[in-house]
Amino acid sequence: MPVGTQGSVKAIEHRELLAEDARIILGNTYHLYLRPGTEIIQKAGGLHRFIGWNGHLLTDSGGYQVFSLSDLRGISEEGVQFRSHLDGSLHQFTPERVIDFQRTYGSDIMMVLDECPPYPCDEEYAAKSNALTVRWARRSKEQEAKTERLYEHEQALFGIVQGSVYPAIREESARMLSALEFAGYAIGGLSVGEPADLMYRMIELTTEILPTEKPRYLMGVGTPENILEAVERGVDMFDCVLPTRNARNAVIFTSQGRLNMRNAKHATDFSPMDPACHCYACRSFTRAYVRHLFKAGEILALQLATMHNISYYLTLMRSAREAILSGTFPAWKQSVLGTIAVDESAE
Ligand SMILES: [Zn+2]
Repeated sequence: MPVGTQGSVKAIEHRELLAEDARIILGNTYHLYLRPGTEIIQKAGGLHRFIGWNGHLLTDSGGYQVFSLSDLRGISEEGVQFRSHLDGSLHQFTPERVIDFQRTYGSDIMMVLDECPPYPCDEEYAAKSNALTVRWARRSKEQEAKTERLYEHEQALFGIVQGSVYPAIREESARMLSALEFAGYAIGGLSVGEPADLMYRMIELTTEILPTEKPRYLMGVGTPENILEAVERGVDMFDCVLPTRNARNAVIFTSQGRLNMRNAKHATDFSPMDPACHCYACRSFTRAYVRHLFKAGEILALQLATMHNISYYLTLMRSAREAILSGTFPAWKQSVLGTIAVDESAE
């Protein structure tokens, strides 16, 4: 899922996302609540109409942003109090209010408010924090049942498994949330600085518990390598700013590895960014031209690199689905890992 924090996937238009067959994008409850505010979005007839997007929308609960971006004033049983990173104004998010906001947005997939503990955090804190997250999840589920959708389409609500890097707490979290019967389950609190093999272990023990017939969504992950390892462990959905953020820094993902389009070696390279890619940017322009655009500070550079990286990620996921269906995933994964081991992005 491409990430459109402010109701816009940075440096790419909706029609270009549709051309790459993007069917769902992310919006951010915290950012959209602070600006433009839920009232304007409701007046517009919901988030789809406000941003002119006919595909699906998932909005995260804002929990992660409250803990990472805002000036946190306190966590209580009731909810979380914080000061806006924009103007310092004081706000409170509760599990119930966050559901109400997402009813206003009309998100196809709503997320519960959770506490995302930092890494590292001690076991006692992780256990206490997870217990609170589970109690908040129960209240979110009750609020979902008590409130009506405001627009015609259905809205699904996902729970979020936490528990830091402690197996027993992760398992407890996955079990308690499964009992609440959410429409789908997210795995949160990973890719926050822990080693990759620890992240994979946490994913594995979580997906073993979560119901197999419901979608599993790994939040905020990650590199193509991370995604393939998580798919192998039973994860279905991903979101990450990596493809779009890297693109704006001239780093692109290709079938020949990770390239930095600012590198001098591309100055007279008149081949496409990725010869194996069918996106508009690769069909129409050369590495030499894209490098020139980056060097000249042209906005088109960001647009072309973003379009390509989105295309690369969506193609990767489509190919993963095909490989799973044809029973060739392990061999396919090894071949892709071989191509992405090349990394000249730091040169
Ligand atoms: Zn491309």
